[in-house]
Amino acid sequence: MDKTNFACIADDPIEVREAARKGLGVFARIDIRRGTRIISESALLEVGDEKNSEAKGIVLAFEQLAPPQQELFLQLHGYACNKFKRAAEREMEQAWQDISELHRTVLSIYAANAFGKVFWLGSRINHSCLPNVNFSYNPALKQGTFHAIRDIVAGEELTVMYINGTNRTKSQRQAELKKWGFSCSCPACEDTLQGQKREEKRAELFALDQALAVHAFSGTAKSLEEALLKAQRMASIQNSEGLVHRELRVTYHEAASYSLRTGRLRMALL
Ligand SMILES: [Zn+2]
Repeated sequence: MDKTNFACIADDPIEVREAARKGLGVFARIDIRRGTRIISESALLEVGDEKNSEAKGIVLAFEQLAPPQQELFLQLHGYACNKFKRAAEREMEQAWQDISELHRTVLSIYAANAFGKVFWLGSRINHSCLPNVNFSYNPALKQGTFHAIRDIVAGEELTVMYINGTNRTKSQRQAELKKWGFSCSCPACEDTLQGQKREEKRAELFALDQALAVHAFSGTAKSLEEALLKAQRMASIQNSEGLVHRELRVTYHEAASYSLRTGRLRMALL
């Protein structure tokens, strides 16, 4: 893919184009099988591990980019919520309006696009509470990777979950997404019968998640047995709802841990 004008080469499996009511998005140009690593890319901008505050670190990282990379970075969409702006004001020791326009833009782009680091292509993937792509950072490759977590058909938009929303209700997810300045209308948030059914499952996941947090402080045999059943139920719902990404990994880890603590060594290894 040509990074300067979004033009696609013939065998690109994905393309960047307008997404309805969401600005730009990333779309599949061909059918993509579950498990495919769709994108693997180096960070366009990452904040170094310095003594600087986050905001100063973001500005410094931008200033250290070569001009062509700065140009690519500035092509991304920016949005800074009030909470981010107030934090930036404290860290920059300046009122938001007194920060230079360029630096306000840089900070806003970082706020809207960082998966810990900003990626030129991956950061363009829009959010869904029912995503078809999972992001992870591969330290061996030193790259951000985006894998298909289910089969994706040609023309479908790629989506990733910006928040840890698997075990959260719609109102909790929407409150957290205000940070990005939009109201989610994904299939899990839509006000339809199917959306309501999904919401019932999310409410159950939230209750199970809360209950497991309580079990974490109790070591009685009965409590461990109950915790194992709850972790298994969570994994079952997450799988059936297609929520097969990083939060399912956490659930499996909990289930394995409780299997071990209740003496089920073979189950723990499954
Ligand atoms: Zn949603």
